[in-house]
Amino acid sequence: MSDTAAHPGAGAIGDAVHRVTDHSLTRDHISLAQDWVASNYSPLPVVIAHAEGAWVTDVEGRRYLDALAGYSALNFGHLHPTLVAAARSQLERLTLTSRAFHSDRLGPFCRDLAVLAGKDLVLPMNTGAEAVETAIKTARRWGYEVKGVPDGRARIIVLAGNFHGRTTTIISFSDDPLAREHYGPYTPGFDLVPFGDIDALEAAVTDETVAVLLEPIQGEAGVIVPPQGWLRDVRELTRRRNVLMVADEIQSGLGRTGTTFACDLEGVVPDIYVLGKALGGGIVPVSAVVADRGVLGVFTPGSHGSTFGGNPLAAAVGQAVVGLLVTGEYQQRARSMGVLLESGLRELLGHGVDAVRCRGLWAGVDIDPQLMTGREASQRLLERGVLVKDTHGSTIRLAPPLVVEEAEVEILLAALGDLLRA
Ligand SMILES: *Cc1c(COP(=O)(O)O)cnc(C)c1O
Repeated sequence: MSDTAAHPGAGAIGDAVHRVTDHSLTRDHISLAQDWVASNYSPLPVVIAHAEGAWVTDVEGRRYLDALAGYSALNFGHLHPTLVAAARSQLERLTLTSRAFHSDRLGPFCRDLAVLAGKDLVLPMNTGAEAVETAIKTARRWGYEVKGVPDGRARIIVLAGNFHGRTTTIISFSDDPLAREHYGPYTPGFDLVPFGDIDALEAAVTDETVAVLLEPIQGEAGVIVPPQGWLRDVRELTRRRNVLMVADEIQSGLGRTGTTFACDLEGVVPDIYVLGKALGGGIVPVSAVVADRGVLGVFTPGSHGSTFGGNPLAAAVGQAVVGLLVTGEYQQRARSMGVLLESGLRELLGHGVDAVRCRGLWAGVDIDPQLMTGREASQRLLERGVLVKDTHGSTIRLAPPLVVEEAEVEILLAALGDLLRA
């Protein structure tokens, strides 16, 4: 309340009276956010105050099934007991050293993550975008120092519809006008080719190409799955042309698709994994680049860094996340619940749903644009107690936490069916 009163644009007495009599906590919080938070998002009108597992509770005590799971940052659900325990015990011991010194958490985390990915080395960062930037720097340095590309000439091939984060370099090679507009001048050195078209990709490779940076399944674009065999073709092409295959598995990885990595669905091993989101267990931002020594070995002291990257708290949580993944239990659950989700969604085809793309517990659902936009669908699902987010146009993305039970998948499907019938 005192915050509101301090803001010149709000806090009139009438406003306070209105709030007390209205009892609308949701409205209060939303108007506070509208007054004080920059508008780079347009959140749905729900104010979350608590969460556990696959469920969140708003400030009025209403419960919702979380079928977005923080864009897959919450693959293990909210407040997973193992992850919370790891964070809590680390909080009471050591939280930050900076990389100027060793900590007793970083080595164990990086070892376990490297082993999970079948690679030699890990470079820990914080956010996904930082990990993508790190992968870009890795590829360029590898190009100059290992492949022998003349300095300053390296090119990286990226895919139409990509989403790799929000830094100025990353949005430079986005083809989404919303993400790019008025942020120039843009970083050069990227070539954009259609997603899923191996001939176009092959035609774009030159002697100066150092990497192909791709999402094995494009999340933000609407869970777009490439044609069968494309990833394997990219692997073969990049190997043949001495180009690094860089898989941004920030959203697709760590169990979401029913496998540890989405690349596993095609038996493909990229040169570089870029990881984030779920690696932080929904608790702290943790990201990483994972690759063999012949690639990540290009870094020397001082050539790259991060104040917080690999901090003991992040490492403790990240190691606990890897501990959950090595059992295979979550991948298995994503597969079995994913089968239910997919078959339920397929039943809606032709009944207000135009297309369904499903891998594990991850689905892009194209609602008939005549009926409603994705935003409207998300809004109506919210009213039915289910949280999702639209991607583009009339597509919604479903990515419930991998801890969901059969009954919860049914709730999600029932809510969707109900809103399409209404
Ligand atoms: C979310 C995401 C990113 C960016 O991660 P941030 O933590 O938001 O910087 C990069 N790539 C993909 C595929 C993502 O889904």
